[in-house]
Amino acid sequence: MMERSLPNRCLLCQQTCLQGRGLCDVCLADGEPGPLCLGCSKPLPAPVPWRCGSCLGKKRWRPLVCAYPYHHPLGYLAGAIKIQRRMSLLSPLCDALAQRLEGLWQLGALPRPDALLAVPMHRRKLVQRGFNHSALIAVALGERLHLPVLNERVIKVRPTRDQHGLNGAERRRNLRGCFQVIPGARMHNLALVDDVVTTGTTFASLAATLRRDGHSVSQYWALASALNTVS
Ligand SMILES: [Zn+2]
Ligand SMILES: [Zn+2]
Repeated sequence: MMERSLPNRCLLCQQTCLQGRGLCDVCLADGEPGPLCLGCSKPLPAPVPWRCGSCLGKKRWRPLVCAYPYHHPLGYLAGAIKIQRRMSLLSPLCDALAQRLEGLWQLGALPRPDALLAVPMHRRKLVQRGFNHSALIAVALGERLHLPVLNERVIKVRPTRDQHGLNGAERRRNLRGCFQVIPGARMHNLALVDDVVTTGTTFASLAATLRRDGHSVSQYWALASALNTVS
């Protein structure tokens, strides 16, 4: 069963919080990590130029926006939506990512995308789990940021192995040909959405599939990123 709402206690400090919100405002404010690298989500000492030293050296890159680094108390909780079905985390974590995005747009660090598209889940997995966490996150972000959500335009046509423990080449092979774009209007300036980005292979693979079919992806969004800690 999907969790409806945890007793209205904050998952971090156990203090009372609003019904349906798994985190209290104090923990959310205390946990705000400040500026993060738009390449790998590593915390930055100062915002400009929005990328850390190692990401600035990369020629081919797409901005990645995350609410938290994964190795951060709130970043770690991003994985609990999928794994522990903690639906009460969806709202506060999506609020945090939406606020970060609005801040970046205001500062001109990043353009607004035209639409959002979540990483799809194979239907067998969807039946097992009962929900696609990434699709729920995309819908929540679309509502908050007033952007269309085009989740139905891509499907996962074959199940894939858990990416955990696979090296880069194995991950790419695992995902090869697993996504399929439903024919229709051209999609431009998309932001791809997932819960946690670990190596970025899933985003890159989905973006490559979309590009092959004439669509364009301009950025990646996730609640948390482990990119700067994964080699
Ligand atoms: Zn709290
Ligand atoms: Zn970086």
